[in-house]
Amino acid sequence: MNQKERIEQLFETGILPRKEMRALIEERDEESSEELFAKARIRKKENFGKDIYLRGLIEFSSYCRNDCFYCGLRRSNTKAQRYHLSKEDILTCARQGYALGFRTIVLQSGEDLSYSDEEIADIVRSIKKEMPETAVTLSIGEKTYEQYLLYYKAGADRYLLRHETADPVHYAKLHPSDLSFENRKRCLYDLKKIGYQVGAGMMVEAPFQTLDNLVEDLFFLKELQPHMIGMGPFIAHKDTPFKDMPSGGSELTIFLLGILRLMFPKVLLPATTALGTIDPYGREKGIMAGANVIMPNLSPKSVRGKYMLYDGKISTGEEAAESIEKIRKRMEAIGCHVKNVRGDAPGMGPENRQ
Ligand code: SF4
Repeated sequence: MNQKERIEQLFETGILPRKEMRALIEERDEESSEELFAKARIRKKENFGKDIYLRGLIEFSSYCRNDCFYCGLRRSNTKAQRYHLSKEDILTCARQGYALGFRTIVLQSGEDLSYSDEEIADIVRSIKKEMPETAVTLSIGEKTYEQYLLYYKAGADRYLLRHETADPVHYAKLHPSDLSFENRKRCLYDLKKIGYQVGAGMMVEAPFQTLDNLVEDLFFLKELQPHMIGMGPFIAHKDTPFKDMPSGGSELTIFLLGILRLMFPKVLLPATTALGTIDPYGREKGIMAGANVIMPNLSPKSVRGKYMLYDGKISTGEEAAESIEKIRKRMEAIGCHVKNVRGDAPGMGPENRQ
């Protein structure tokens, strides 16, 4: 098959044989990228029109018990600036977001054990009670089935947990031995079983990553059928074991966004902050390749610079919620429209909750 045929088949059927998927990525060039993105935009338009969904991100704690080799918040990084927000601080951010038009709040943190499960559930419950038309997404790491169920019963709608890489051997090169792909997978399937809208996703151009790893990621996602896919380039952090590893660029990530849109026409696909960090127009390019979600930061200004997963993370200017108008304008400039709605995965709105 040539690139044109591969893209056509992916567009028509949503899948390619592994060998062809690998070749599609490997042989990508400007022409095939443009072709892929044009098809991805067709699928996006069919399912979402011109709409772009916003998620208000509250990074509520920079403490983490884990030690992932690529992450600036890893527990061994003694230079990391640590903070956790109180329930009242979190609610204040959520209210500000609500006033700005956000109808999804994402509560994200390292795996910080200082919040009890009941406290997390209470925060979720309080947001839902005060702002009932707001969806709450949690992104707080690996938990037990019972913990996930507790948060869901408190009202949480969605859960983001990137799988990072679907190859257990590669996983072991990115994480210490107490973390495994097996458990990550267990978490993702537990979340699906409970009824969450689930987000997975991989790091692109991560250290030691091969093309076969990426193909494996795509097939793992096909099997999992997540509702959201968060994917961004690896960016090295200076105080981690991977400090000297080369960071990824935006090009491969954007190409993969196009593939994902054709594989998952209805998926919620963010153009991530990492993409916007590595390339000033990364998010626009991501949107033009099939992404339909942007996640501006709602965390208080005083802590925004402290949630440093990787170096150079954009934390001022257009990433600030106050600059939401600029984001709207930037989206209008590429023919899209930011919509103030929850933006659920199709068929997964509040009326479908179990
Ligand atoms: S990637 Fe997440 S779990 Fe791993 S160290 Fe960073 S914040 Fe903690």
